Amino acid sequence: MFDSLTLTRIPAEAEALRAPVRAFLADAVKDMPADRRARSWSGFDAQFSRDLGAQGWIGLTLPTEYGGGGKSLFARFVLVEELLRAGAPVAAHWIADRQSAPHILKFGTAEQAAFYLPRICRGEAFFCIGMSEPGSGSDLASVRTRAKRTPTGWQLDGQKIWTTNAHRSQYMIALVRTSGETGDRQKGLSQVIVDLSLPGITIRPITDVAGDSHFCEVFFDGVQLAADALIGAEGDGWNQVTSELAFERSGPERIYSSVVLLDEWLAYLRAKGNPSDASLVLAGRVLSTMTVLRSLSVSVNGALAAGESPVVEAALVKDMGTSLEQFIPAAIADALGDDPEAALPEALARTLRYVSQVAPSFSLRGGTREVLRGMIARGLGLR
Ligand SMILES: Cc1cc2nc3c(=O)[nH]c(=O)nc-3n(C[C@H](O)[C@H](O)[C@H](O)COP(=O)(O)OP(=O)(O)OC[C@H]3O[C@@H](n4cnc5c(N)ncnc54)[C@H](O)[C@@H]3O)c2cc1C
Repeated sequence: MFDSLTLTRIPAEAEALRAPVRAFLADAVKDMPADRRARSWSGFDAQFSRDLGAQGWIGLTLPTEYGGGGKSLFARFVLVEELLRAGAPVAAHWIADRQSAPHILKFGTAEQAAFYLPRICRGEAFFCIGMSEPGSGSDLASVRTRAKRTPTGWQLDGQKIWTTNAHRSQYMIALVRTSGETGDRQKGLSQVIVDLSLPGITIRPITDVAGDSHFCEVFFDGVQLAADALIGAEGDGWNQVTSELAFERSGPERIYSSVVLLDEWLAYLRAKGNPSDASLVLAGRVLSTMTVLRSLSVSVNGALAAGESPVVEAALVKDMGTSLEQFIPAAIADALGDDPEAALPEALARTLRYVSQVAPSFSLRGGTREVLRGMIARGLGLR
C-alpha cells in the first residue's frame, strides 16, 4: 500500500519562483495585522487576487493559450506555500485556482475553457464549490438538488449549504441529480456551472463563531440554466467530484492553517528571550512534524503531477495535516498558560484567540476526519 507515493523533491526550476513571490508578498502584506493574516485562505480580498493575477500567479499550471502560466504543479506548490506562510488573503481566487480551473480544463469543452479560464487567471472570475446540502455532507451521494432537462437547457431546484464565499463569487460548480432518485446514490449525478447572478438564486451568508461570514446557504428556485452549463458527461458527476477532491485535499493548505500563529509565537519567544525548556521542546516537536508532513504533501503533489489520482494518500495528508493544525493553537495556549508572568503582545493574543476559535473546522472542511480515516482504512484493505 502507498507504494505509489515516492519521496519527491521540488525541482530547482520550481524553487526559482520562491524568491520573487516572497519579495512581492513582503510588500503586499506588510500592513496586515497578524490576526488578519491568520485567516489566509479564508481571507477574501478581490484586489489582492487581481494583483496576483497581474503577476501571472493565478492559474500557474494552466496552458498559456488560456492565460495560464504553463508551469508545473511543483511551481504552484512553491507559490501556495509562500502565500500561506505570509498569510496572504487568497480566498477570492483560491477555489477557482485550486480546483475549478483544472476541473474545467479536464472535463469542460474547449468553449467552456476559453470562456472561464482567462478570467480566472486575471482574478476576475471567482468560483465556489456546491457539494454539501443539509443532510448530504459526508454522505455526498445523497444530494437532492436536481437539474431537469428543458427545451433550452436545465432547470435547477434545491439547496446547498456551507458554500464558501457563494455571496462573493460569480460561479458555482454544483453537484446535482440529473436523473433517478436520491436512493440511486452515485448514479444519475452530474456537475453544472451555475452563474450566481441568475434569477431564482438566493444566497444567505452564515456567520461563524469568530464573527466572519464566509460560508453560505444557497437556494435554487426554478433557475434556468443554458444547455452548456453541464460540465463533463451527464451522469458522470460522481467520478468527476472524486477526482476534484484529490486536488482539494492534498495541498499545503492542509498543513499551514496555523502557521501565522506559530510564527507569532516564535517571534514572541525570541523577543522575550530565555525560552523555557518546555517551549523549546514544543517548537521542535511542531517543526519536525511539519517537515515530515510537508515531504508527504510534496510527494502527493508529485503523484498528481505524474497524472495519478492519489485519493487515499491525499486523505492521509489532510487527516495528519489538520491534526497538526489543531494541535498548534491548543499547545501554544497551554505553553503560554504555564507562564502566568507572560505579558502577551496584543497581536499574538488576538491571533491565538482567532485560530483557537476556528480550529475545529480544519478537520471538517473538505471532508471530515472520520470519513477520511474510513477511506484510509479501505485503502489499506482493512474495511
Ligand atoms: C469552514 C467550512 C467550509 C466549508 N466549505 C464548503 C464548501 O465550500 N462547499 C461545500 O460543498 N461544503 C463545504 N463545507 C461543508 C463540509 O464539506 C461538510 O461540513 C463536511 O463534509 C461534513 O458534512 P456535514 O456537515 O453534513 O456533517 P455530517 O456528514 O452530518 O457529519 C456529522 C458527524 O458524523 C461523522 N460521520 C458522518 N458520516 C460518517 C461515517 N460514514 N463514518 C464515520 N463518521 C461519520 C462526521 O465525521 C461528523 O463528525 C464546509 C465546511 C466548513 C466547516
